[in-house]
Amino acid sequence: MGVQSIMLLGNPVLRTNCARVKKFDEPALAALVANLRDTLEDFRFRCGFGRGIAAPQIGVAQRVIVTNVDVPTVLINPLIVRHSRTTMTLWDDCFSFPELAVKVKRHLTIEVRYQDLEGKRRILKATGAMSELLQHEIDHINGILALDRAIDIRHIVYRSEIVAERVGNSRRAM
Ligand SMILES: [Zn+2]
Repeated sequence: MGVQSIMLLGNPVLRTNCARVKKFDEPALAALVANLRDTLEDFRFRCGFGRGIAAPQIGVAQRVIVTNVDVPTVLINPLIVRHSRTTMTLWDDCFSFPELAVKVKRHLTIEVRYQDLEGKRRILKATGAMSELLQHEIDHINGILALDRAIDIRHIVYRSEIVAERVGNSRRAM
């Protein structure tokens, strides 16, 4: 248990359509969630950004994501069931290609159905920062990366080149 290695762009696990979690009272699931939390906090401490992580990023092809925006949240088997037509365009980034930034288009508001650690079904409505974070993480468990969502190839750049643009715009990332 603890901080895990982060799988980087090119690792096939990042392109896997991850398996649904079916068993909830399992030490293995609790350990996975603890590892995701530890790895997220470690990355944020070392790199200064990061608000969410998906299981395939630590090499586990299961539909589990952990976010930490205001409070830590565990979403198991999350599914976007509704989304706004209104979109937003923003710079996105990812633990799995930490030196890059990608301009993407996301839905402004989404509704996500998921299960908690006990397997209880829940619904979460998210807008703005939390919405784009969840869209990024849910893409991960479907084997989709932010790079795939680039509005065009010119908007895949080094993060260091757009720092000035991001100042005062405390953008997230994973
Ligand atoms: Zn990511």
